[in-house]
Amino acid sequence: MATLARSVLVTGSNRGIGLELVRQLAASPRPPKHIFATCRDATSLRGKALQELAARHPNIKLIQLDTVDLPSIRGAVQTVETHLEGQGLNLLINNAGVGSQATLQSVDAQEMLATFAVNVVGPLQVAKEFLPLLEKAAKDAGTEGLSCSRAAIINVSSKVGSIGLCLGVLEAPMYPYRASKAAQNMVTRCLAEELRDKGILCAAIHPGWVKTDMGTEQAPMTVERSMQGILEVLGILSQETCGAFLDWEGNRLPW
Ligand code: NDP
Repeated sequence: MATLARSVLVTGSNRGIGLELVRQLAASPRPPKHIFATCRDATSLRGKALQELAARHPNIKLIQLDTVDLPSIRGAVQTVETHLEGQGLNLLINNAGVGSQATLQSVDAQEMLATFAVNVVGPLQVAKEFLPLLEKAAKDAGTEGLSCSRAAIINVSSKVGSIGLCLGVLEAPMYPYRASKAAQNMVTRCLAEELRDKGILCAAIHPGWVKTDMGTEQAPMTVERSMQGILEVLGILSQETCGAFLDWEGNRLPW
């Protein structure tokens, strides 16, 4: 199996989907040279599992990155740049996100804005600040076409953010979460259109309903299974799937 990418950065990698992504990337037969595992606080108890993983894999670099804090993002860009020693960043996975169960009755402006800050503003700001490193990777790749091994931004989205499907609103209204993922999807589409000609692939991916703190124990799928699928899908993304909304099995979803 070929290396997915020489360098990969994952946001929100101290637990759930992000932690499993980093774990599987590090355990792959041909792991990336650099796995930038970022999280809000890697030093406290919240980052313990990630610290233990990094201790076993020297290619995992723990980096502080709060996706809603611009100085923190810029600090992370500088640290990543130092590790890359003149090379670009190939793959940025915007995974960090927050859930919200607010209904029409309970929702308020504060909850909407807090959810949008992390799920929409965060991935956009992170993409914007890491863009020079992604552009560098795209330019230096020496290949045409789009792929995660050249340069890519993957935004972890959710099927419940699909306006086309508008799934189960009565059972799970989740106004802030759904609206934020729909907005994040638009950000992904715009980035895909704007960055395609620069050699950077952008796509949104739905991991399925997964057992994590956010997905809860009720979820039907393990995080291991979902990440196996996602890594396979990432490996086959190309021009044809640039700007697509896919699930963990590679099926196209309506926006
Ligand atoms: P978890 O709640 O288990 O983990 C969320 C992660 O995001 C944590 O690492 C958390 O860090 C991090 N995070 C939250 N806010 C910030 C921030 N401001 N800066 C940096 N990191 C932050 O969720 P999942 O692992 O389940 O979800 C990951 C992604 O997958 C999300 O985007 C989610 O919307 C999406 N998703 C999940 C599904 C599921 O069934 N689980 C289904 C569909 C989509 P901290 O520990 O510091 O809070």
